[in-house]
Amino acid sequence: MAGILIIGEVQDGAISAVSDELLAAACKLVDEGVGGGISLAVMGDDLSAVTAAQAPGADRVIRMSNPALKHEGTGGYDAPVLAVAALNESISPDIILFAKTDFGAVAGPRVAFKLGVAVAQDCIDVALDSKTGRVAVTRPVFGGNALGIYDFNGDGTQVATIRPGVFDPVEGEGSGTIEDFDVSNAVAGVRAVLVETVIQDSEGVRLEDADVIISGGRGLGGPAPFEQLQELADLLGGAVGASRAACDAGWVDHSYQIGLTGKSVKPTIYLSVGISGASQHMAGLSGARNIVAINKDDNANIFKSARFGVIGDWEKVLPAFTATVRDLAG
Ligand SMILES: Cc1cc2nc3c(=O)[nH]c(=O)nc-3n(C[C@H](O)[C@H](O)[C@H](O)COP(=O)(O)OP(=O)(O)OC[C@H]3O[C@@H](n4cnc5c(N)ncnc54)[C@H](O)[C@@H]3O)c2cc1C
Repeated sequence: MAGILIIGEVQDGAISAVSDELLAAACKLVDEGVGGGISLAVMGDDLSAVTAAQAPGADRVIRMSNPALKHEGTGGYDAPVLAVAALNESISPDIILFAKTDFGAVAGPRVAFKLGVAVAQDCIDVALDSKTGRVAVTRPVFGGNALGIYDFNGDGTQVATIRPGVFDPVEGEGSGTIEDFDVSNAVAGVRAVLVETVIQDSEGVRLEDADVIISGGRGLGGPAPFEQLQELADLLGGAVGASRAACDAGWVDHSYQIGLTGKSVKPTIYLSVGISGASQHMAGLSGARNIVAINKDDNANIFKSARFGVIGDWEKVLPAFTATVRDLAG
């Protein structure tokens, strides 16, 4: 076995939390018997602040620094794909893990195509298949209504993207080695380079990190009620999310969208307001610990997953709930 290669991501100069989740997936595979160690590679223009201590569980951290990989390896795809392909050739891992982030969801399949191997997207589990000695992955299928376990054909490198929020990040400090991998030849022929990234301003807690999420759907009837959701989210130190129907209607930006084609979240409390609970929405909630639903339709699908539910008009329920929270908050 040649080991596990994680394509980590860098945020504000350091290895990001989503990479720690990939490390948890890799550590699980090692516990099950995958040999060869765990390598975590990061890409960027200036990786001088990246240390091995930021990667608990990794045997080595590999820095690939090059101007073509600026924007911390999270923007543009040609150069990162060429860099990962070169690293793959050098260390021949058994499996390459990406996070299913905006970057990994696009770069992962491109790397697989470049290597001529299969890719499994949006995996929620990885496990050593004792019969084949290769890694098998679990993916939600049919809009999240069932789970499929997939083997990879052949004996080449496997590529998988892992859904954020399904593995608890490895905590603590890493004690692996750190090394630099020169990608200047690999990226020399790159045809497209990202010249600018425009980061959308947002205040407060990120949806992906929020412990409390107040989420609105088409049942809200328009954009204005999202202010009430924001007020409650602020009182609880949480974030506001939305269904795709609310985003498609233009009531809130698509960055609020939770679900199959939106974000995966893992709050302790997910309060859904006027959301039916379609399977594509629920697909983003597999990590939510307690779903609380306000919906006027007692047959709404959301109630099948809700721990607590209020059958009623949100316009009556929500203001009373918010007032109570405000009183309790003092
Ligand atoms: C390929 C694909 C991908 C998709 N990806 C996503 C995704 O990532 N995320 C996502 O959310 N959807 C996704 N969808 C869409 C999904 O199928 C649903 O259409 C969508 O989630 C419905 O949004 P909703 O629950 O807000 O609206 P609706 O289904 O219209 O539900 C509105 C709910 O509000 C309730 N309601 C109405 N008025 C009130 C009131 N006054 N008080 C209380 N309750 C009220 C109604 O009873 C109803 O249950 C996807 C669909 C496809 C085909």
